[in-house]
Formats: sequence, C-alpha cells, structure tokens
Amino acid sequence: MIKLNNITRTFIGPKGKVIALNDVSMTLSSGELLAVRGPSGCGKSTLLLTAAGMLKPDKGEVLYREKDNPYSFTPDKRSKLRADFIGFVFQQFHLIPYLTVKENIITPSLASNVDNPATRAKELISRFGLEERSDHLPGQLSTGEKQRTALARAFFNKPEVIMADEPTGNLDDENAELVLNHLKSYAEDGGCVLLVTHSASAAKYATRTLNLKNGSITMQ
Ligand code: ADP
Ligand code: MG
Repeated sequence: MIKLNNITRTFIGPKGKVIALNDVSMTLSSGELLAVRGPSGCGKSTLLLTAAGMLKPDKGEVLYREKDNPYSFTPDKRSKLRADFIGFVFQQFHLIPYLTVKENIITPSLASNVDNPATRAKELISRFGLEERSDHLPGQLSTGEKQRTALARAFFNKPEVIMADEPTGNLDDENAELVLNHLKSYAEDGGCVLLVTHSASAAKYATRTLNLKNGSITMQ
C-alpha cells in the first residue's frame, strides 16, 4: 500500500544539522497494523509526516499503491490524494475548537467526495459512542471523547491507510484500549494502519513491529 525507499530527512537546528531519518525503508501492506516503536526524538513523527506526503524527504522515495509518489504531484493534487488515501490521528487530537463533534467528524468531506456525509457521520458517532456529545464543542469533551472524535474524523473518508502518531499518549487505559481496538479492526477489515509510539503496550496490538533508533530501523 505504501513503500518508503531509502528515506533520509534532516533538519537544520540551532546547533547545526539533525539527521531525523537515516536511510529508512519499509513497506506497509493492507490488512496490517504496523507499529514503529522508539523513544522520544528517534524520528517517529518525521517518519509519519514523510509517509503522509506532508514533509518532503531529502533523499529517497515515497510510493502509494506501487505507483504514486505524492512529492511528484502538485500541492493541490497531493492534498486531494492525501484526503482520499490517508486518515490521520494525533496525540493532541487537533480538533477544530469552534466546530461541534459532528462538524469535526464531517470535515474530511470538504476535501473528498463521500456519499451521504450526514449518514456517514451518524454511523461513526454511534460507532464511537458519541451520541450524547455530538453537539458539544471540543472544549466540552473529556480527552477520551476528543480522541474518539478524532478517530471518527480519520475514518470518515474510508481511507486505505490510517496513520496515528502516539494516539494513546494522553488517554486513560480504557480509552487507549478502545482506540487501539478500533485501529486493529480497521486493519483486519482490509485497511492498514501505521502507528508510531513509544509505548510497548500500544505496540502489542500490532501485527508487526519495527524499532526506530536515532533515525534508523534496527533489528528486533
Ligand atoms: P519523535 O516523534 O520520535 O519524538 P521527531 O520525528 O519529532 O521525533 O524528531 C526527530 C529529531 O528531529 C529530533 O531530534 C528532533 O529534535 C528533530 N526535529 C524534528 N523536527 C525538527 C525541526 N522542525 N527542526 C529541527 N529539528 C527537528
Ligand atoms: Mg513525535
């Protein structure tokens, strides 16, 4: 579904060059939940943003469906590709504060064609147990409810890939388990999930785990 071939990404920091990713290659196939594990600063978010078409690598190639390199597309075409292909979940939720739960969940339909967005939103609100909160603003939600809203938003366009950056980092055990089980089912139903996390317990839900250390994939 996604291939990363020999990806290197550096940043210029105040003390000079930081190598965030160093010659990383991996393949993500449908039906799998791939966890990339590693400590803070090892390059996890950089890896996810690069794979998501949001951060151009210095070297190497990102390929979707064996053929599309998002970085060879114009920005508009790349955004459209991303909207159809990828759903994103963040540790900090990143909900739009002045939109309700229902409105947040439906926002991906602005960038992609979805049949009956209202029906789809209703289905997700019920799946994530948000019926009583659908007209609340994010500021009126618990952290678990915020992440369930963000998950519903990521699922909205039925993307082939869900990318999740420390999605359980701010959650209690019960909500963490719920979020991970939903991600697992998404992969089992034929989608695929790329999860980056420092958490060993989150990685237990994965069908496969890679370790990332100082920007490089290391052996188990
Ligand atoms: P992780 O998500 O695993 O905590 P990141 O991918 O965020 O790690 O960062 C990897 C490394 O790159 C870190 O050393 C970080 O300080 C550095 N880094 C990330 N983004 C930037 C940036 N915009 N400018 C400079 N350095 C950065
Ligand atoms: Mg990070």
